Amino acid sequence: MSSIHYEIIPINPAAHLFEVTLTISNPDPHGQVVSLPAWIPGSYMIRDFAKNIVEIGATADGKPVTLTKLDKQSWQCAPCSGPLTLRYTVYAWDLSVRGAHLDTTHGYFNGTSVFLRVHGQDQVPCSVEFVRPEGPFAETWRVATTLPRDSAKKWEFGRYRAADYDELIDHPVEMGTFTLIEFEACGVPHALALTGRHRADSERLARDLRAICEYEIRFFGEPAPMPEYLFQVMVVDDGYGGLEHSSSTSLICSRGDLPRKGDTEMSDGYRSFLGLCSHEYFHTWNIKRIKPAAFIPYDLSREVHTPLLWLFEGFTAYYDDLILRRCGLINDESYLELLGQNITRVMRGTGRLKQPVADASFDAWTKYYKQDENAPNAIISYYTKGAMIALALDLMIRRDTGGVRSLDDVIRALWQRHGMTNNGVTEESIEALINEFAGADLSRFFTSALRSTDELDLAPLFSACGIQYLLRAADSQSDKGGKAGKKKTVPTVLGVRTGENSLGAKLLNVYEGGAAQLAGLSAGDIVIAVDDLRATHGNLEATIAQRVPGDIVTVHAFRRDELMMFDVTLQAAPADTACLTLDTGSDQPARMLRNGWLNGI
Ligand code: ZN
Repeated sequence: MSSIHYEIIPINPAAHLFEVTLTISNPDPHGQVVSLPAWIPGSYMIRDFAKNIVEIGATADGKPVTLTKLDKQSWQCAPCSGPLTLRYTVYAWDLSVRGAHLDTTHGYFNGTSVFLRVHGQDQVPCSVEFVRPEGPFAETWRVATTLPRDSAKKWEFGRYRAADYDELIDHPVEMGTFTLIEFEACGVPHALALTGRHRADSERLARDLRAICEYEIRFFGEPAPMPEYLFQVMVVDDGYGGLEHSSSTSLICSRGDLPRKGDTEMSDGYRSFLGLCSHEYFHTWNIKRIKPAAFIPYDLSREVHTPLLWLFEGFTAYYDDLILRRCGLINDESYLELLGQNITRVMRGTGRLKQPVADASFDAWTKYYKQDENAPNAIISYYTKGAMIALALDLMIRRDTGGVRSLDDVIRALWQRHGMTNNGVTEESIEALINEFAGADLSRFFTSALRSTDELDLAPLFSACGIQYLLRAADSQSDKGGKAGKKKTVPTVLGVRTGENSLGAKLLNVYEGGAAQLAGLSAGDIVIAVDDLRATHGNLEATIAQRVPGDIVTVHAFRRDELMMFDVTLQAAPADTACLTLDTGSDQPARMLRNGWLNGI
């Protein structure tokens, strides 16, 4: 047992309570301070995990020790000689990759939700005992985590260990009766633990994930930096998301996205699941080991700002789908569709003309992670815009070096110079590195792309590698773009996105400068009639599409419980939807650049 030892028991699954016992052999003689993080690395929002501590108490030598609350997340124990024992319960009913969740079907937690940090001893090795809950429901439970094992057997309850607090909280733990799928990638043991009801094709999952993992390990260079890797997947009816860790990732996916035995097609859902796996796996290098200087070390007590998420999330979002193409899991058309969808997400909404991507990164805590109905008019995503910047740089470097160099070289150099050495990345260092491989001074590009709201000029870059790029109007609000539209004429629109409501069509977003906003309609309004005929989420779009731009329609809508009337002058749908196709007539140099890009050579 280490001088810092935790024991965690799913003490009351029906009430969603874990009990944690923390024993500190050598507490601070002036009064030991302990705290829980306010946020979890990779998810840039203050979550105040300490709010889920329900009861907490401390003892030493069999006697109670007084605890004083210092702030929302910290406690100080009265001075005592060790060992000091803290016992507390944690409410766990957040089925997300960021928190903790417990019932009789499974237990899941991130260390940030359950393990108190022992101030002054962050660097001290610790041990942790995972205890099987009592009851017949848990008889077949196993444990899936990449936390290093001490005396525990693989996939079993028992004793684990961590070199320090950072390591302790970077290995989420799943307890339950999951499906375990094991495979090797470049000699490294990999596993996929699927929790929740599913009928997935294990062999296909192992084969496809192995292809992605081997590609990425070789992309950065062998040996892989992690001794093993785990994809921890919660399968639900409808869900999507992931969080990266240094040797694992926690994912949530929709049941229907996983391939079933006998399926051979690449469905859109499975393609997006593989893209998510590829994304989180890429983070094993790009953010878990290549880090912004501001994150070394992490301060988990408050927001930590970096202007560089366009690099860590955007470049990762660029490579996630590109790698599916390079592994042969999807073809050129499928990849271009995904890329076109990404460009479309950037083009929808005027937020891109308001917020530079470096600012979007800095303000992730209060803007990207706290989006409201006005988000499309006010902010840009550092994922989608960052991926477009990566694309622009990749195609630019390939074009200007005759295909000799690419963004791949930049990423590998980032790994060698910053990741392998734990030397944090700054705006200056990444821009200098890109200049070095581009063989040119791109400072004007950086100023324009990162620190202004100028539009990226993608057309000449696509043209140089034999890709036809055009922007068209969306067919409907469900048109995600990426491929040719089905409608021959430009639809007439209200300039809104709607959702279901029992009274009519609820306006979820009202786009800046659109017909609805100019007429005075607002997000939250419920449209009940157009020209005195009933409107619903299901028929509103089609009703408006039958009219022509310039027509004036009368819209009745409820705002709160007040019925209001608006005269709306309809508009043509804007050309905000990207479509990419292979130019079959392109010349040899363009085809060479395109092949190098899509195949990674
Ligand atoms: Zn990410």
